[in-house]
Amino acid sequence: MAEQNPLERERRSIATLLQAWPPGQIEEVIQRHLQLWQAQDLASKLRWCWNPRLRTTIGRALLEEGVLELNPLLLGRHPEEMEPVVVHELAHLVITARYGLSAPPHGEAWKALMRQAGHSTKATHNLNVDGLRRPKRRRRRRRTRVFLRRWR
Ligand SMILES: [Zn+2]
Repeated sequence: MAEQNPLERERRSIATLLQAWPPGQIEEVIQRHLQLWQAQDLASKLRWCWNPRLRTTIGRALLEEGVLELNPLLLGRHPEEMEPVVVHELAHLVITARYGLSAPPHGEAWKALMRQAGHSTKATHNLNVDGLRRPKRRRRRRRTRVFLRRWR
């Protein structure tokens, strides 16, 4: 059987992700956790969006803007990370709203929110980011397919 074209496979995994995670579904995760964390007042101040320009970062929180960005390419490869990533980044936004921009990103207050939500307090994950790095220079050797990628 012929190997599926990698670009086509990527396109399909993103289409599947967007189907499984329509905006209402993502907002449900956000609302549920804001409620859990007694931070419903933030709902109107925070926004989220897909950012197809993200490469090896699976998600990030723009703290000053109150924006949660999600990487459709990487989440298409790792759809099981969707909720943990939303919760992880949302917790950053809640911590910033409560304690300001100087609060440690993965400090005790942030960890407490993650534990309360039943999620890992680790800031690292094993993700396949093969082919997502910007080709800036020639590679000396082949990269291993899976390596540790830090969340922001
Ligand atoms: Zn983080």
